[in-house]
Amino acid sequence: MDFSVPTEIQEMLAKVRQFLHDDVYPLEAQFINGRFADLVSALEEKRARVREMKLWAPQVPAEFGGVGLAFMEHAMLSEELGRTPLGHYVFNCQAPDAGNMEILAEFGTPEQQERFLKPLAAGKIRSCFAMTEPDCAGSNPVWMNTTAVKEGDEYVINGHKWFSSAADGAAFAVAMVVTDPDAEPHRRASQIIVPTDTPGYQFVRNIPVMGHAGDGWPSHSELRFENLRVPAENLLGEQGAGFAIAQARLGPGRIHHCMRWIGICERAFDCMCQRAAERDLAPGDKLGTRQSVQNWIAESRAEINAARLMVLQAAWKIDNEGAKAAREEISVIKFFAADVMMKVVDRAIQVHGALGVSDDTILQYFYRFERGARIYDGPDEVHKSVIARRALKGYGVAGT
Ligand SMILES: Cc1cc2nc3c(=O)[nH]c(=O)nc-3n(C[C@H](O)[C@H](O)[C@H](O)COP(=O)(O)OP(=O)(O)OC[C@H]3O[C@@H](n4cnc5c(N)ncnc54)[C@H](O)[C@@H]3O)c2cc1C
Repeated sequence: MDFSVPTEIQEMLAKVRQFLHDDVYPLEAQFINGRFADLVSALEEKRARVREMKLWAPQVPAEFGGVGLAFMEHAMLSEELGRTPLGHYVFNCQAPDAGNMEILAEFGTPEQQERFLKPLAAGKIRSCFAMTEPDCAGSNPVWMNTTAVKEGDEYVINGHKWFSSAADGAAFAVAMVVTDPDAEPHRRASQIIVPTDTPGYQFVRNIPVMGHAGDGWPSHSELRFENLRVPAENLLGEQGAGFAIAQARLGPGRIHHCMRWIGICERAFDCMCQRAAERDLAPGDKLGTRQSVQNWIAESRAEINAARLMVLQAAWKIDNEGAKAAREEISVIKFFAADVMMKVVDRAIQVHGALGVSDDTILQYFYRFERGARIYDGPDEVHKSVIARRALKGYGVAGT
């Protein structure tokens, strides 16, 4: 494995870091304390700058209006963008739109790409991904109650979804629905594109998370589908391929999340060092001279470096051998990087004292809204069990 990063990529990353620092960090206070809707026009100006920089929709193939960065390049960019909660949004590679763009590019028909992918890639609309349901354990991806029954040339959808991120204001949802209840579990579900103005689509509410319901893109919604009819051509890929498409989306998606979390770690690390260097415990007596603070800094440095190398190695394996071959590596980084992020953010808060839990720094935002990292895209325990079962298989442990 070659550890060097091409010079042009290093230059691109440096340019992005500077841009985020100068242009996007100043919007964070309003993002944390205000409504997202009030920030949209300021963000549109930043998005225009990103288009000028020729970095708009970095992961989207050029034929659909993006840059078409290679997988590893986008992974590295994702770290830079992760330093601010607004980074991915400003570059139009934010979840869940990025994943929807990927599956539309890979599995969409030319008509679906024209109608849904192109405006999404252009940043004219937003979308959401509706899979999880309140009444079925989301960690069991083949269990759901929402059904889509084919009637003539339409699907009739009924069901209840929640935690559909960014559904508030989305133009369409990609919904995971049961189309073939009698098929084997991994062939029961399909993914269907549901425009949100379809009769029967009910937006119930934004679910308050850690005391904050959010609005627009940074929100997680509860939805109901009641006798909702969509044309059969809204089926994404084949009928029964919902699980396979979800897997195709989640493997590489986890790399992007993990690299974003490394970016959060680096930002928290910067904040921690800055505070340790500036804060006096008594006149002239710096906080950074205390060994417990130095230990936190050193431990964080080691853990962040380890996490980054593990994520890049998993990305390299996906690139070279495919997501299936990298299954174990993906599970390892999913729980490891999320844990490192929570620890580093927690230490940075501790170093800041009361300021750390106040809304005057970005740290409390990461602490509250990134806690979900240990739950979505597979809770820690599910990924740990994948690793342990594979390891124990070699030792003949029954039930693995
Ligand atoms: C911030 C956030 C954003 C999200 N965005 C979306 C979205 O856009 N679209 C969408 O469809 N869903 C989304 N989700 C939902 C997410 O995918 C689910 O929360 C996740 O799959 C877990 O499902 P669950 O919440 O039903 O937990 P459950 O399945 O009920 O699991 C609860 C807990 O049980 C434990 N557990 C589960 N399985 C095992 C096991 N095999 N062994 C041991 N312990 C286990 C774990 O500790 C787990 O946390 C989001 C969730 C969060 C927090």
